[in-house]
Amino acid sequence: MCGIFGVHGHPEAAHLTYLGLYALQHRGQESAGIVSSNGHEQYVHRAMGLVADGITEKHLRQLPGRHAVGHVRYSTAGGSSLRNAQPFCATTDGGSVAIAHNGNLVNASAIRRELEGRGSILTSTSDSEVIVHLLARSREGTLEDRLIDALSRVKGAFSLAMLTDDALVLARDPWGFRPLVLGRLGSAWVAASETCALDLIGAEYERDVEPGEMVVIRRGRMRTLRPWVMAPRQAFCIFEHIYFARPDSNVAGQNVYAFRKELGRILAREHPVSADMIVPVLDSGNAAALGYAEESGIPYEAALVRNQYVKRTFIEPSQSIRDFRVRIKHNASRGMIAGRRVVLVEDSIVRGTTLLKLVDLIRHAGATEVHVRVSSPPNTGPCHYGIDTPTREELIAHRHSVEEIRRILGADSLGYLSLEGLRRASEQLKHGICDACFSDDYPVLSEDDPELPQLSLFRPPIEVDGEDSDT
Ligand code: AMP
Repeated sequence: MCGIFGVHGHPEAAHLTYLGLYALQHRGQESAGIVSSNGHEQYVHRAMGLVADGITEKHLRQLPGRHAVGHVRYSTAGGSSLRNAQPFCATTDGGSVAIAHNGNLVNASAIRRELEGRGSILTSTSDSEVIVHLLARSREGTLEDRLIDALSRVKGAFSLAMLTDDALVLARDPWGFRPLVLGRLGSAWVAASETCALDLIGAEYERDVEPGEMVVIRRGRMRTLRPWVMAPRQAFCIFEHIYFARPDSNVAGQNVYAFRKELGRILAREHPVSADMIVPVLDSGNAAALGYAEESGIPYEAALVRNQYVKRTFIEPSQSIRDFRVRIKHNASRGMIAGRRVVLVEDSIVRGTTLLKLVDLIRHAGATEVHVRVSSPPNTGPCHYGIDTPTREELIAHRHSVEEIRRILGADSLGYLSLEGLRRASEQLKHGICDACFSDDYPVLSEDDPELPQLSLFRPPIEVDGEDSDT
């Protein structure tokens, strides 16, 4: 998964982009990058690691200009290395471009092979780079038309921001898998994966970039295009709401925290239980646990405590302490839990590793019963559109029934939100959803799959409703 951010027409474009990426850090921690433009030339800085570690004040001073795009990366396609860090840059005969992409393409390998066969040298293993190469090779005239041409060749998920020397171009695939919003900061335009990034810089949310829409902002004026044929349906990733997006963001017209709470309420109605306390798995289960507690009338207690400062590299004791790795991250508050019946609420189960350890931890803290409630349906399929999930075989719900998972976890009961419950809650969203990881209903099949619908998304660009800004 990744986060993208863009600014058009602000004297502190790179600084604002830095802050925007900071707010989007949860969308990717592997690398961060900013490209700025002063209207004639582009400047780039990319680094591995977190935004605050890889981008310093000195780097920002070397990113001049009133326009910028930025990217935080969480590798879902391609390995972990600086050459995969975005934005990707290219110099074409039509000028410089920098592209920041969120989403996975399902035909990137086929296009990569085709490009390499025609002599392109791709420097990364990321599927996003193929967009830059398709654009560079396009015979269309303007860079916008070349981007339309390039994106009509790819299948799958893209929410992207492209910086040319003088324009910010935003595009969202016709299915609308990944989020992308547009905002204003005075006379400047801002784009971000999530509204929490607009909030940080004090920008006003204007609207979502719609599925299948391309927005071109040049010299302070915005115009909108619908260059691709509509998808048969919209497919906004519901896992953004369940787990991935920040709870303070509004995504697809719905506050993420409120949505998660609603899932918790439905879960309480679907799987009631007699217990003494509702305990969230921090922080992912917080909102759903509150919803469950409100609906059931059972008190919410933060009886699991998480150490916020756990680093990947820590010094382990030479003598093995039982469950050391889980205990360093979580502790169950014995004084709260001993002798009580606990309902543990989590947003999702992937491999089952987290809950296996936490159920055990809570039992050892003296709980008399441990009931597990999950605010999403059993996760039975991988994501092809940008969420980093393991292979189908590694998903515990693919290999085991709910009863088997309950036994593996050592829980007294286990209840998942139903797919119907999730779909009912999703009716309040602005767009239709993709719930393929729970339902196996994949809107676009992977290129490897012979059943891939051969849908051509290209049609000549038509401007639908030109919108001018006041600048
Ligand atoms: P697991 O321990 O493998 O069952 O993973 C479940 C935990 O990982 C839950 O706490 C989720 O909140 C979290 N989670 C779910 N999907 C992802 C993902 N794609 N990347 C990182 N964490 C995830």
